Amino acid sequence: MSMNKIVLFYGFTPLSDPEAIKLWQRALCEKLNLKGRIIISKDGINATVGGDIKDLKQYLKTTREYAGFRNMDIKWSDGTGDDFPRLSVKARDEIVSFGAPGELKVDENGVVGGGTHLKPEELHELVAAKESNGEEVVFFDGRNAFEAQIGKFKNAIVPDVDTTHDFIKELDSGKYDDLKDKPVVTYCTGGIRCEVLSSLMVNRGFKEVYQMDGGIVRYGETFKDKGLWEGSLYVFDKRMHMEFSDEAKEVGHCIRCNKPSNKFENCSNPSCRNLNLYCEECASAPETLQCPQGCTD
Ligand SMILES: [Zn+2]
Ligand SMILES: [Zn+2]
Repeated sequence: MSMNKIVLFYGFTPLSDPEAIKLWQRALCEKLNLKGRIIISKDGINATVGGDIKDLKQYLKTTREYAGFRNMDIKWSDGTGDDFPRLSVKARDEIVSFGAPGELKVDENGVVGGGTHLKPEELHELVAAKESNGEEVVFFDGRNAFEAQIGKFKNAIVPDVDTTHDFIKELDSGKYDDLKDKPVVTYCTGGIRCEVLSSLMVNRGFKEVYQMDGGIVRYGETFKDKGLWEGSLYVFDKRMHMEFSDEAKEVGHCIRCNKPSNKFENCSNPSCRNLNLYCEECASAPETLQCPQGCTD
């Protein structure tokens, strides 16, 4: 019997020949009928791959035979077998595109000089410890701003970024300079964006930076909707969003009628690339599934 799963993992490690790793990974995935997206750079690997559980286990076993990839943390989730349209394996300047390939320092142990990793329990310990000193922990969203429309940490700061490329401009704008002396926790979906973001923040004088180990995914597995997380998690596959329990708060609203919604939809205008929240009713007709303020392109 076949069973479909998705694996998500990343590893920061120096790779002297990213092109060779790319060819190896592509051949391996093709042989095992896996689909998904893999990015390789001189600093490591970032992968989301789906397929049959047996094939995925073989894939991970082989991938981990490469010394630099041995200790990667793998996240498993359920797949449908139709989660990715194709296999894409690419070598790029960065495995997450911050537009700062020269700034990131990586060695055998991962990113050099990033924020302190916190496990979900350790995050709660930090918040409690700071609170008892009358200090507040600041949550800093490391994702694209739209993702926070359907869920984020309580009172989190959501930087004004359309893509990860905008973070440097945001950090250099001075907007967040008052946070430089405060305890700041960065968080993102699976942890990879925070590996880079937290190091960029440390480099820019943020004195006490933490990052959520394993991201929102790991936190949600641990505390579901009984902790500091509120709402749904945006995910980059066909599901578009996921909830950690039936108690998830619906924090998003339909852009047209303001009804609660956690479902992003593409505008019905084919030349418009805006992704917005629509309720089921507004999404059901092309006339209402369209930017209320007019489309931008
Ligand atoms: Zn609506
Ligand atoms: Zn539109």
